[in-house]
Amino acid sequence: MTSLDSSSYTYEAPVSADLFARAQAITPGGVNSPVRAFRAVGGTPRFMTEGSGPWITDADGRRYVDLVSSWGPMILGHAHPAVVEAVTAAARRGFSFGAPTEGELDLAEEIRDRMPPVERVRLVNSGTEAVLSAVRLARGATGRPLVVKFAGHYHGHVDALLASAGSGVATLGLPDTPGVTTGAAADTVVLPYNDVAAVEAVFAERGADIACVISEAAAGNMGVVPPLDGFNAALRRITAAHGTLLILDEVMTGFRVSRSGWYGIDPVDADLFTFGKVMGGGLPTAAFGGRTDLMEQLAPVGPVYQAGTLSGNPIAVAAGLATLRQCTDEVYARCDEVAAVLRGAASAALFAAGVPHRVQQAGSMFSVFFVPDERQVRDYDDARTQDVARYTAFFHALLARGVYLPPSAFESWFVNAALSGEALDRVLDALPAAARAAAEVGA
Ligand SMILES: *Cc1c(COP(=O)(O)O)cnc(C)c1O
Repeated sequence: MTSLDSSSYTYEAPVSADLFARAQAITPGGVNSPVRAFRAVGGTPRFMTEGSGPWITDADGRRYVDLVSSWGPMILGHAHPAVVEAVTAAARRGFSFGAPTEGELDLAEEIRDRMPPVERVRLVNSGTEAVLSAVRLARGATGRPLVVKFAGHYHGHVDALLASAGSGVATLGLPDTPGVTTGAAADTVVLPYNDVAAVEAVFAERGADIACVISEAAAGNMGVVPPLDGFNAALRRITAAHGTLLILDEVMTGFRVSRSGWYGIDPVDADLFTFGKVMGGGLPTAAFGGRTDLMEQLAPVGPVYQAGTLSGNPIAVAAGLATLRQCTDEVYARCDEVAAVLRGAASAALFAAGVPHRVQQAGSMFSVFFVPDERQVRDYDDARTQDVARYTAFFHALLARGVYLPPSAFESWFVNAALSGEALDRVLDALPAAARAAAEVGA
C-alpha cells in the first residue's frame, strides 16, 4: 500500500500521542478496533474526550467537525438532549436484569413499523452478532452449508465472512485472516459485487447447497458502492428460485439512509435483515429480523440456538429507541441536504485542483474515490484502483483544519443532522486546501 510520509502533515497532538503510547503497551496496536489506529493514513490517532452536536473534542482540547459519527450511529449528532435524557432515566432504573423489559418491545416494534418485511425481531449486542446469528438461522432453516458473499462487503468479524472483506480488512490490505479454519471458510463462496451473471453461474452449479446469499443492502465498507439498478432484486429472484434465503445486511444503511434504511430506497423483500449502528444510538445494541416462520425456528420456539446475557440491555435499548424516535422525516431530509452540499463542495474543490476522483453515494452515505480514470466504482477491484496516498494527504489536511474524516479511503463518510452553521462552514472552508494537498501527491 502506498503511504505518504505523514510527518509532512503532523502538528502537535501531545496528549493523544502520550495516550497512544500508553495504549500500545496495554492493548494490541493501542486500539479496540483496528481502523482507529490510523495505520492507513499515519500519524497519531486522536483520543476523544467529548462530543456535542456536530463537534468532537480530543484530549488536546482541539475541536473537530465529525464526519465519522461513530461510523454511523450518531445520526442526531453527539449527546442529543432527548437521548441523554432517556439513557439517564434508564440508568436510574437499573442497568440490567437478565429478564425481559418493556423497552425491548418498543424498540422491536419501532423496527417492524419501519421495515414491513420484518415480522419478528431478535435483539443482540453488535452487528457482528446479528450477522452470525442470521447466517446460523439460514443454515439451520435450510439444512444447507454454503454462504455466498460479495468481495469488499464487510459483515462484522464473523469467521465465515472475513474472506475478501471490506472495512478494516480492506484498509489494512489483509489477504485472509489467520485463525479462520479452512473448514469455516470452505463453505463461503465469494463473488464480485454487482455481477448478476456470476451469481447465476454459481447457482447453476451449486444452488441446492446454498443456504443464503448475504449482501450489504448498499455497500459502504469499501467506500460507498451502491448496488446497480435491479441488483438486489436479481438476488431476490435467483435465491427464491433455488430455495435459498436472502439476507440483506442493513447494519450500516438501516435507519440511516432513510426511515426504512436502504429498503426505503430500493424495497427488496429479503428473508432476513440485520441491523446495528443507528438503532443503538451509540450504545451496543443490534438486531436481526424477518419472516415469522423463519424467525420462529430460533430458540426457545425452535431448535436454532441463539442467546445473550446483555441482549436487549435496558440502557442500550433506551438509547436506540430515543434515537429512532427522533429520526423524523426532517432529520433524514437534513442529512440528505448536508450530504449533497458536502458532495458538491468536495467534488468542486477537487476539480478545481485538478484531482481525478469520483464521488459515490447511497442516500446520505458517500465517499470520495481518488480513482485515476474517474469511472464508476462498481466492485472491490474498482475500489482498489484508488490512489490511497491522495486520500492520506486529503485526510491530514482536513484533520489539521479541524475536520475529522474516516481514517481510511475504504470507508463511508457519515453526516449527522446537527451539521450546520459554523461546523458546516468549517468543512467548506477547509476543502480547497485539502484538495490542493491531494493534488500535490505525485500522480
Ligand atoms: C459495522 C457493520 C457490521 C458489524 O457491526 P459491529 O457492530 O461492528 O459488529 C456488519 N455489517 C455491516 C454492513 C456493517 O457496516
